[in-house]
Amino acid sequence: MKDIATPSRTKDILFRHGFSFKKSLGQNFLIDPNILHRITETAGLTKETGVIEIGPGIGALTEHLARTAGKVVAFEIDQRLLPILNETLEPYENVKVINEDVLKADVKTVVEQEFAGFEQLMVVANLPYYVTTPIIMKLLEDKIPVNGIVVMLQKEVGDRISAKPSTKEYGSLSIAVQYYTEAELAFVVPKTVFMPPPNVDSAIIKLIVRDEPAVSVKNEEFFFTVTRTSFAQRRKTILNNLVNGLPGGKEKKENIYAALQKAGIEPARRGETLSLSEFAALSDALLNEGV
Ligand code: SAM
Repeated sequence: MKDIATPSRTKDILFRHGFSFKKSLGQNFLIDPNILHRITETAGLTKETGVIEIGPGIGALTEHLARTAGKVVAFEIDQRLLPILNETLEPYENVKVINEDVLKADVKTVVEQEFAGFEQLMVVANLPYYVTTPIIMKLLEDKIPVNGIVVMLQKEVGDRISAKPSTKEYGSLSIAVQYYTEAELAFVVPKTVFMPPPNVDSAIIKLIVRDEPAVSVKNEEFFFTVTRTSFAQRRKTILNNLVNGLPGGKEKKENIYAALQKAGIEPARRGETLSLSEFAALSDALLNEGV
């Protein structure tokens, strides 16, 4: 069976169905089977793995997932793709397509209903780039019980997600994702493997979801507020960002200063130099100081 993901078969499918790309839905379809092999390999799929796909398009990645995994459930927002997917995925009995916006979907219930008894659950997708971060954060914050996430996204976002402290890419997104996962940029992907080619460079990232968050904190929500506030103005010191950005920060300058001292963090440092453990110690110390 010829792969969907070749330029000629993709063109033929799109032409026969009179399909036109919607840029606003991030529709850049994969047309290179080699990249698809590398994605499924990176995800380490077996027949005991269940897979959630987001945005199957015309099924290019879906069929590779169906061949290597036990079962695939794919969320697709664009109704026009349903008759196409019906045709292209017809040979695969282990695929279910749900016509829903993944950001509005009750993914947890779908997991309970569709993947009972699977040893492993992975999210594997070529994400729509206009909503990459909200999708990843929804999966992590809603604590969808997946073991890992292997997705294509803008290289620039992949660099930020996997960044280490004291680099220019390191910021609140790096911390939010690394709190829940071990993040690694797996490989960079050239524009030529997409139809139409996107405007930005792409990469595959691999996120292994941790059993427990990387650090333990008294109050998760406050921890994330502290990290976001610390990066509000990257050139400013951590003390200045916290004083200017935390609710009531200006009145509590002394307490913020004391919390930094107690957490062993020099107030003149910049947020981008702090590790996850230092942010955890700082957020707990701020709470102890009544901030
Ligand atoms: N998986 C296909 C491939 O690799 O060729 C298509 C990937 S394309 C980059 C992104 C897909 O996500 C499109 O099919 C688009 O319609 C779909 N999509 C966009 N926003 C979505 C959303 N909020 N929920 C579910 N699917 C979405």
